[in-house]
Amino acid sequence: MKIISINAGSSSLKFQLFNMDDETVLASGLFERIGIEGSCYSIKYTGKKVKEEIEMKDHSDAVKILLDKLISLNIISSFDEIDAVGHRTVHGRDKYTDSVLITDEVIEDIDKFKEFAPIHNPANLLGIKAFKEVLPNVPMVAVFDTAFHQTIDEVNYLYPVPYKWYTDYQVRKYGFHGTSHKFIAKTLAEKLGRDDLKIISCHLGQGASLAAIKNGKCVDTSMGFTPLTGVIMGTRSGDVDASIIPFVMEKEGKNVHEVLDDLNKKSGFLGISQYSSDSRDIEQGITEGKRNCVIAEEKFVRSVVNYIAQYYVLLEGVDVIAFTAGIGENSINTRLKIVEELACLGIKIDIDANNVRGEFKRISTPDSKSEVYIVPTNEELMIARDTKAIIENR
Ligand code: ADP
Repeated sequence: MKIISINAGSSSLKFQLFNMDDETVLASGLFERIGIEGSCYSIKYTGKKVKEEIEMKDHSDAVKILLDKLISLNIISSFDEIDAVGHRTVHGRDKYTDSVLITDEVIEDIDKFKEFAPIHNPANLLGIKAFKEVLPNVPMVAVFDTAFHQTIDEVNYLYPVPYKWYTDYQVRKYGFHGTSHKFIAKTLAEKLGRDDLKIISCHLGQGASLAAIKNGKCVDTSMGFTPLTGVIMGTRSGDVDASIIPFVMEKEGKNVHEVLDDLNKKSGFLGISQYSSDSRDIEQGITEGKRNCVIAEEKFVRSVVNYIAQYYVLLEGVDVIAFTAGIGENSINTRLKIVEELACLGIKIDIDANNVRGEFKRISTPDSKSEVYIVPTNEELMIARDTKAIIENR
């Protein structure tokens, strides 16, 4: 069975084609600058790479080129080989508690929920509509970033604000990175042979969120109504006092959208360090003695530790703390600092074991009270697995 996993942005389209019989990647690639001058694509397959600048007016053009290339590069011999397409979809509001076969109703809902994800849902829809146009008879599945968090109870998902905001406008915590947290939970359950694990999943990338997971179900997560909240991130502030917004609006003569833009794009690592949003640059800045890089890193570690502590209590202890995504998988130093701060909980890091990047590995000592793992995430594979499960059970 062959499944394409799609992540469509407003001017881009990332794909991976899986052979689901053994979950190998047959091809992967990126289409960029769709609808913009200089549009191009790159496709990797069997150790080779092709790259070409080619006009793409819209996402349908990109999909047509992608499919033609899969044939002309001999990756597949006919479109009939594609059994299904899975689409990363950011917001399913509280209606979608799991991935779902895409119907006209689902398409209408993704469009309707765009007020909750004004950049992402319309972009995801462009990908869905383009495949529907080019491959009308191939089943498609929407895999929502929010779905995994729908098991969070109302005490954790409600904000302490006028209740009407929830009942009338659906203002509540939704959470994001759900596909990644689900992948982490499933991978750990499978590798450790237990489905009753208490897990704190730390997805630490340019965007970052934590999830408290019990028996495979999400109990709480650090992102909220939007991906702005929770721990500090590359350019996002994480949790801040909302009263800062009108205060800065007055000081800088900005409107609310401009200040919100500052919180989304000029805060976090970038805001504090005044240097970079990239954790590698921050680490470099620290070695060069840049004081604000030190503060940014310490603040990041502190905010992650605060959430781990909160979730440790919420879960009444934890079996596994998992690190994933760009920083979680690769930053040896950041993992070390975070786990060292958990010493009071009897959690201990094995310094030698931690000295790796991007591989599944236990990095806690044998006598640590909870285990700590690096678990490389694979959202594309999770999308393909969900898609396979749904089309098989139709
Ligand atoms: P996203 O998918 O949210 O855009 P990623 O998961 O790719 O982000 O994570 C990007 C972050 O991971 C950046 O801050 C980058 O510095 C960090 N990162 C990637 N590789 C390394 C590495 N080798 N060492 C330290 N940090 C790394």
